[in-house]
Amino acid sequence: MILVTGGCGFIGSAFILQWLARTDEPVVNLDLLTYAGHPGNLAEVESHPRYVFCRGDIGDTATVAQLLATHQPRAVLNFAAESHVDRSISGPLAFAQTNVVGTLQLLQAVLEHWRQLDAQSQQAFRFLHVSTDEVFGTLAADAPAFSETHRYEPNSPYSASKAASDHFVRAYQHTFGLPTLTTNCSNNYGPRQFPEKLIPLMIHNALQGKALPVYGDGRQVRDWLHVDDHCSALRQVLEAGRPGETYNIGGRSERTNLEVVHTICRALDQLRPRAGGESHTALITHVKDRPGHDRRYAIDDSKIARELQWKPEVGFDAGIAQTIQWYLDNDAWVQSVTSGSYRQWMDKHYGAQ
Ligand code: NAD
Repeated sequence: MILVTGGCGFIGSAFILQWLARTDEPVVNLDLLTYAGHPGNLAEVESHPRYVFCRGDIGDTATVAQLLATHQPRAVLNFAAESHVDRSISGPLAFAQTNVVGTLQLLQAVLEHWRQLDAQSQQAFRFLHVSTDEVFGTLAADAPAFSETHRYEPNSPYSASKAASDHFVRAYQHTFGLPTLTTNCSNNYGPRQFPEKLIPLMIHNALQGKALPVYGDGRQVRDWLHVDDHCSALRQVLEAGRPGETYNIGGRSERTNLEVVHTICRALDQLRPRAGGESHTALITHVKDRPGHDRRYAIDDSKIARELQWKPEVGFDAGIAQTIQWYLDNDAWVQSVTSGSYRQWMDKHYGAQ
C-alpha cells in the first residue's frame, strides 16, 4: 500500500492511473478537493478494488495519522500543493499554508508514524516529495541546465513555497533520519490539466475562438515533459532512489512558450479548422508579462539517467498531439471544470467543506 496526497489533481491522478495499471499494489489517495482537484479525473478507477479515496487536508494531522495507522503504507508520495504561479502572485498566503505549513504538518505526522515501525519497516519506508525545477530560479539562454546541486533561487511565491517545503523535507531526513526522496521536475503537460495552465488554456481558448494570451514576448523557455513520463520517473525514484537524495526530472524538450502555442495552433488548424479557414495563430495576443517571470528553465537529467536508468519516452510533438486529441474528445470534462457545475457535483457527492 502507498499513500498519495493530491491524487485528484493533474499529475497525482495520472500517477494513480498508471500505478493501478502497472503494479499490483493498493493506493490510498488523500485529497482536499480544492478547485484544482477533480474526483472525475479518477472516475474510471472509483470502484477499483485497490483504490481508496479520502477527502482531507495534508495539514490535518489527525486525519493523516489515522490513514497511516489504518493502511500502514510503505510509502507516502506528496503531490498535494497549490500549483499555479499566477494564483500565488494574487494570493500567496494559501501557498504558504498548503505548500509550506501543510507539508510540514504532513512530515510530522509521517515521522511520528515512522518512529513506531520496526527497524526493517523503517528502513524500507519512503517519503517522496514531488517538487518543481522552479525552485532553482531562472537561467540565462546559454547557461547550463539545472543540476541537483544548482543553488535554490526561487522567484515567485509559488516557487518560494515549494523551495521551503523541499528544505523541510531535507531537514526531516537530516535531523530525524526519515527516509525521504525529493524530485524536481520541469513543466508537465498532458490530459486532465486544469485549463488555467498554458497548454490547456491555449487549447480551450482556441477551440472557443477566444484570444490566446501570451505573456510578454513569449520567448520564455520551458523544458516540457509528458505527465506519463513524470509518473514513470516517480515510480523509478520510489523503487530505486537513494534516501536523502534529490533527483531532477526533465523532458529534454526545451521550447519557447510562443513555439508551444504555434504548435497547438498548427495542430488545431488540421483537426478543427476555423470557419473562414484562417489559422488559429491569428488569435495570438501578446499581453503584459507576468511580474518576475522566469526566462528559462532547463533540466540536466544525467543523474536520474545514470543512477536509475530513466529517460523520457514521449516525444514532444507526439505528446502534444495526443494531449490536444484528449481535450477534443473530453469536452464534457473541460465544461465541468470550467463551469462551476463540477463544484456543485463535488459538494453533493462528498459534502461541502
Ligand atoms: P494540481 O493543482 O493539478 O493538483 C493539486 C492537487 O492537490 C489537487 O487535487 C488539490 O485538490 C490537492 N490539494 C491542494 N491542497 C491540498 C491540501 N491541503 N491537502 C490535500 N490535498 C490538497 O497540481 P499538479 O499540477 O498536479 O502538481 C502536483 C505536484 O507536482 C505539485 O506539488 C506541484 O508543485 C508539482 N509539480 C507540478 C508541475 C507541473 O507542471 N504541473 C511540475 C513540477 C512539479
